[in-house]
Amino acid sequence: MSLNNQSKLGGRQPMSLLEDQLRISGFGEVALGYTEEQAIAEAKRCLQCKKPLCQQGCPVNIDIKDFIGLIAEGKFSEACEKIKEKNSLPAVCGRVCPQEEQCEIKCIVGIKGEAVAIGRLERFVADHVMSMEREKVDCAIQAGKKVAVVGSGPAGLACASELAKLCYDVTMYEAFHEPGGVLMYGIPQFRLPKEIVKEEVEFLRQIGVKIECNVIIGKTLTIDDLFAMGFEAVFLGTGAGLPYFLGIEGENLNGVYSANEFLTRVNLMRAYKFPEYRTPVHVGNRVAVVGAGNVAMDAARTAKRLGAEVHIIYRRSEEEMPARKEEIEHAKEEEIQFQTLSNPLRLIGDDKGYVTGIVCEKMELGEPDSSGRRRPQPIPNSEFTIDIDTLVVAVGQGPNPIVTQATPELQVNKWGNIIVDEQTGATSIPGVYAGGDVVTGAATVIKAMGAGKIAAVGIHDYLIAKE
Ligand SMILES: Cc1cc2nc3c(=O)[nH]c(=O)nc-3n(C[C@H](O)[C@H](O)[C@H](O)COP(=O)(O)OP(=O)(O)OC[C@H]3O[C@@H](n4cnc5c(N)ncnc54)[C@H](O)[C@@H]3O)c2cc1C
Ligand code: SF4
Repeated sequence: MSLNNQSKLGGRQPMSLLEDQLRISGFGEVALGYTEEQAIAEAKRCLQCKKPLCQQGCPVNIDIKDFIGLIAEGKFSEACEKIKEKNSLPAVCGRVCPQEEQCEIKCIVGIKGEAVAIGRLERFVADHVMSMEREKVDCAIQAGKKVAVVGSGPAGLACASELAKLCYDVTMYEAFHEPGGVLMYGIPQFRLPKEIVKEEVEFLRQIGVKIECNVIIGKTLTIDDLFAMGFEAVFLGTGAGLPYFLGIEGENLNGVYSANEFLTRVNLMRAYKFPEYRTPVHVGNRVAVVGAGNVAMDAARTAKRLGAEVHIIYRRSEEEMPARKEEIEHAKEEEIQFQTLSNPLRLIGDDKGYVTGIVCEKMELGEPDSSGRRRPQPIPNSEFTIDIDTLVVAVGQGPNPIVTQATPELQVNKWGNIIVDEQTGATSIPGVYAGGDVVTGAATVIKAMGAGKIAAVGIHDYLIAKE
């Protein structure tokens, strides 16, 4: 067998990780990325399939085979340009996309062995090019029509970038003091360094997008105000920032956070740098996190880095956990304790109103429910208590209702998600488009970006038709 074929059938290139002790004592990025040699070796595992199934698995349809082929030839800048034809945030997506459920699950090499590490290669080229050269800017705004983009998460960033490339005069409005959405305030530094998000936002500025922070559409300005200001179309990418709670006794005690508040304080407001940043976060010695999605893993790993002993409480078994397997593995390596098949019943507090414990009951799995997952059922007389100083609730989130409440003509479904035409992103109001978590409910970065791109095309077609 030739060396080439051996390398194709062999396992994927491993990625170095930050040492365990350095990990839990700081916020440095955990996964360290590929070297040039590793990237080329990994790219050479790709079979360059005639019908690349990997591409079908990508929500934004990146020409995966082509960009990997360019890496195999050492043409990293060209590979980056190839990705950027379809995806303006490769450094982000290479880090946080669930590739194992999207492109990599379809990779032919994965049938008999480990799939080509498409995500790691995407991250490699984006990082490499970012460090080598600034983006080439080929479209300065030429006083095109004005479009407003509300929300600066992946949906808004993708929509604004597509519209700016079409030479629209785009202004992005963001409620927080920094743009980036969940990439900035939710996903922690050790998984997605904020410098990378800032680079991507900077690219938007370079191609002419104006970014106005500290503006809440629905409060500071309404959608009608935007039209009165001369905007001819509006994109709503306001995300799913409204946390759900458990609805159990004691949830209003001090020391109980939504994951959203906890992560925002630490990530965006740099609570871990208190007193340099005057935004402390109280964690104490023992923290419980309820939930087992990516948000729960991020909250647990963040609490660990703030010095606490951390327990994840989840009512099903590890098999059903919705978080990415890689994140679960990293949490285990960091000695987060998993209390699976455990259901929180109530919280206990002290006489000053601070949480001191969480009472749970043990569960067992019964028959599958409508989601196909086995339904957890309580085991009688199985109550137990975990002593805690802090509880972080990470059981999901819904759309923030500020815009929709201020705009009653905007049609929403029973969960408050904006209803759109899937082909164009058009809402019930002419000229107003929407996409991302505010439409789908909490989903993924790449899906939000895909929706932002669809809406950009929808807006472009609408504005052309209006002429
Ligand atoms: C902690 C955490 C970890 C995650 N991990 C992953 C992961 O590993 N991989 C993955 O693919 N996905 C992950 N996700 C999900 C992913 O981040 C989201 O699906 C994605 O960010 C949605 O993008 P969006 O643009 O729709 O909304 P968001 O990213 O939520 O951005 C919406 C923006 O709109 C702003 N906004 C809201 N209302 C207004 C208003 N009225 N006026 C002005 N601005 C407003 C908000 O401040 C926010 O900045 C994670 C989510 C969280 C919370
Ligand atoms: S399916 Fe796998 S092997 Fe085939 S082109 Fe895509 S990444 Fe390469």
